[in-house]
Amino acid sequence: MQTAEIRRRFLRHFERHGHTVVPSAPLLLDDPNLLFVNAGMVPFKPFFLGQQTPPYRRATSVQKCVRTLDIDEVGKTSRHGSFFQMNGNFSFGDYFKRGAIELAWSLSTGSVAEGGFGLDPDRLWATVYHDDDEAAALWKEVTGLPDERIVRRGLADNYWHMGVVGPGGPCSEIYYDRGPQYGPEGGPEVDEDRYMEFWNLVFMQYELSAVRSKVDFDVRGPLPQPNIDTGMGLERIASILQGVDNLYEIDEVAPVLRRAAELAGKRYGREHADDVRLRVVADHVRTGLMLIGDGVVPGNEGRGYVLRRILRRAVRAMRLLGVDAATLPELLPVSKDAMRASYPELERDFARISSLAYAEEESFRSTLRAGTTILDTAVREAKSAGAPQLSGQRAFQLHDTYGFPIDLTLEMAAEQGLRVDEAGFRRLMQEQRERAKADAKAKRTGHADVSAYREVQDALGRPVEFTGYDEVSGEG
Ligand code: ATP
Ligand code: MG
Ligand code: MG
Ligand code: MG
Repeated sequence: MQTAEIRRRFLRHFERHGHTVVPSAPLLLDDPNLLFVNAGMVPFKPFFLGQQTPPYRRATSVQKCVRTLDIDEVGKTSRHGSFFQMNGNFSFGDYFKRGAIELAWSLSTGSVAEGGFGLDPDRLWATVYHDDDEAAALWKEVTGLPDERIVRRGLADNYWHMGVVGPGGPCSEIYYDRGPQYGPEGGPEVDEDRYMEFWNLVFMQYELSAVRSKVDFDVRGPLPQPNIDTGMGLERIASILQGVDNLYEIDEVAPVLRRAAELAGKRYGREHADDVRLRVVADHVRTGLMLIGDGVVPGNEGRGYVLRRILRRAVRAMRLLGVDAATLPELLPVSKDAMRASYPELERDFARISSLAYAEEESFRSTLRAGTTILDTAVREAKSAGAPQLSGQRAFQLHDTYGFPIDLTLEMAAEQGLRVDEAGFRRLMQEQRERAKADAKAKRTGHADVSAYREVQDALGRPVEFTGYDEVSGEG
């Protein structure tokens, strides 16, 4: 089943059950605590917080999401995209646990002929928060799941709040057993790759009076009217229904992966390290496309820097696969073609999107041209001198003269088996900053400050990744 069809069925199912279909909000919302929208409930936050009255009591959407905290997982797990789409259904003081479970179950296991996804109930598992007897009983009653496939888990996995005072409550996750070839049996507690989470149902039923961390908060009491917020990973359900190993192989992503493999002259599935790179390329090209499509421009700070980093990682992965020529002109149109059934605006806007992306690749290529030889020489020298690491001085020079962000230096040195004196580098950076401050007349010289990713985070006061689910401010 094609992803576009899965999305259509999801919306249709909930529309048939009285939900208003709400279009995806853009990835960028005006929210100082949030780099990008990273869960389906984000645009509905004012309703859940009671700041606005929703014009409907039931809503459904397919929301574009970017989770920066998942970037490092990309390509390594089978289920984390930096960009993904979250199918959701929401109840504002309308149906609660029973309704949410019934609606999720009937769509998941309903026959394909009648608009469902036709999942085999024998492969499904549900989790509940450890003291949520009500949900456990409902799973049993509504779905007929046997007790051993209704698993109780603690705060870290099965409790949700916004990281601030406001609504919170237990949640249930639905897992699909992909079979013994993916790992040992025993349920999601044993192996989250074999048992893949594809849907999370949040039962917002309490009001929290203080929140100190994800797992440390006080409950004031029950909410006057409880809400439902669910999120089903579109790519995850697509990977299940398309019978592929991971979400980089679904119809909306795989064409980029295949084209990248072709350009590199690699056979996907042969060598693990290459496969990871191909998956990173496929994922990151799409994320770049969607971010630029929603108005993000590559830059040196904040959101622009995340985009820059993502595009550069894709380009670097292609270089590591052996492709030195510009690659985005080959890959970006393929991604756009794979996504345009769901996002026709990408086609209309493609001239703008692609020129920004291609320019970014060009500027990165010239950075690399200038710095790579220097880095390689430095690495060779350090090694032959028996130095345990590349000096902070070298890293600083690469940054200052060649525009190499420290993370790039770290990554490239690591590929050659060398660490970098990061503390030394940071000391020199700090000295430079102080010199600049001391010099009252100092003005920007036009030299690009290519800050490290981590510095960006610091400047933002650590980007607070607010998700409806599990990435809470200050957690790490
Ligand atoms: P996981 O535990 O697998 O990281 P999660 O519990 O962090 O997932 P939620 O925050 O519950 O995910 O998000 C709701 C749903 O969105 C998940 O059940 C999953 O289907 C999907 N999802 C979450 N993160 C990603 C991602 N990085 N890529 C693709 N889908 C995702
Ligand atoms: Mg989870
Ligand atoms: Mg979850
Ligand atoms: Mg997660």
